[in-house]
Amino acid sequence: LTNNKTIILSNRLPVKITEQNGEYILRSSEGGLATGLGSVYKQGNNVWIGWPGIDVPQERQAEVKKLLASLNLIPVFLTTDEINLYYEGFSNEILWPVFHYLTTYANFEQQYWDSYKSVNEKFKNAAIEAVDDGDTIWIHDYQLLLLPCLIRREKPLVTIGFFQHIPFPSYEIFRLIPWREELISGMLGADLLGFHTFDDVRHFLSAASRLSTSKLLDNVIIHKDRQVVVEAFPMGIDADKFENLTMHAKVAKHSASFKASQEGLKIMLTIDRLDYSKGIIQRLQALELLLQLHPEYKEKIALYMIVVPSRDTVPKYKELRDHIDQLVGNINARFRTLDWLPIHYFYRSFSVEFLSALYSTADICLVTPMRDGMNLVSKEYVASRTNNDGVLVLSEMAGASKELNDALIVNPNNIGDIMRAIVCAIDMPVEEQNMRMSSMRHIVKKFNIHLWVKNFMDKLKEVKQLQESLL
Ligand code: UDP
Repeated sequence: LTNNKTIILSNRLPVKITEQNGEYILRSSEGGLATGLGSVYKQGNNVWIGWPGIDVPQERQAEVKKLLASLNLIPVFLTTDEINLYYEGFSNEILWPVFHYLTTYANFEQQYWDSYKSVNEKFKNAAIEAVDDGDTIWIHDYQLLLLPCLIRREKPLVTIGFFQHIPFPSYEIFRLIPWREELISGMLGADLLGFHTFDDVRHFLSAASRLSTSKLLDNVIIHKDRQVVVEAFPMGIDADKFENLTMHAKVAKHSASFKASQEGLKIMLTIDRLDYSKGIIQRLQALELLLQLHPEYKEKIALYMIVVPSRDTVPKYKELRDHIDQLVGNINARFRTLDWLPIHYFYRSFSVEFLSALYSTADICLVTPMRDGMNLVSKEYVASRTNNDGVLVLSEMAGASKELNDALIVNPNNIGDIMRAIVCAIDMPVEEQNMRMSSMRHIVKKFNIHLWVKNFMDKLKEVKQLQESLL
């Protein structure tokens, strides 16, 4: 047995820090990734390095560092300027839109790039301080694309894995980024690069072979005499948690009262973060078309639409919010009756118990992103259907569609296609619902978040051993 440790690096630490009466309070994050990686960073000497999520004044940083150390967490403190330029700027106004194929939304500002580089250096310094030869590092997501190479330069012997949680676009899209070569060579510092789908892998391999001098052998890139393996690891959820939640007393109470208030109606559910990649507008247009072409469904269906506030300081997101408000208002005003409303719109977040009640009561869940790396909402809906009923309508542009073949798969740009899928879902016999749902439940339960973590870590070890055997 060795003392080698594993270090997780991501933009955000899996913790929420709030200040109450001058005192900092920590609460662990309940997100799926945090749960899955919990089995890693909470063990032994392992640690998770990231931004704590709030601006901590210099004189109090030592105190926060100490608090976090008790949870195996190491903070990287970022200034307001860095958050604006590296995070909201480069990450969310360049990489996010381009990687989701919405290139006209990108804002290629030089100062965003400068800050992205210096913040990746900052993360590198924190990593170097914690790492020893023989350790394993697992870096997460698009905010840290330069980090693998930065760490490799100073610590050539450590094992580095990288996983990207959002799509990797086709080369023709990726090449639009002014700093494309730097991004690719940053990523190629890793030993193993993971993506959600095989298409993302293909796109990365193609971009890497065109933008660097490396050679390609199947899914292996020979970069500076090192083998870099690129592979798909479709991320799962904590399926047991969502299944068990449906049996909690609190959830059952929410479900019962919700069901009673909507008796006789087919309930449709949508849950998204406010984001232009989610296809919210097109989905509303499909509902509008449905009510227009099929008036027989009036007073027979209701859409529960939850939009979780996100990035609302970025102008494009504010515009989207206004557009949604307007469209929901129009549709409700046009089709409502005295005692029926087609759309129940919530712009807020909910407790996981309340979400579970919605997932387990909704007859239909609509997940129609224009582009999504994976999409966890679709899997959470499936995991919550303990009776094996309910219908999932799923965009073919979501990574999840590669696994959840038994959903009704739609092209999110095709309003008529979405409308027809909704009609099909409303009329689907329960036997067919059962057949489709039970096969999807099997997949979601089997390929859960724990297996995902294990598969990635096992592969990373294997890749390193293979490299060493070739030396
Ligand atoms: N979610 C949440 N609070 C809410 C609504 C949703 O925490 O009020 C969660 C949801 O359970 C899911 C995540 O947000 O785990 C959304 O993940 P997804 O992959 O669908 O989309 P992303 O927001 O990561 O693009």
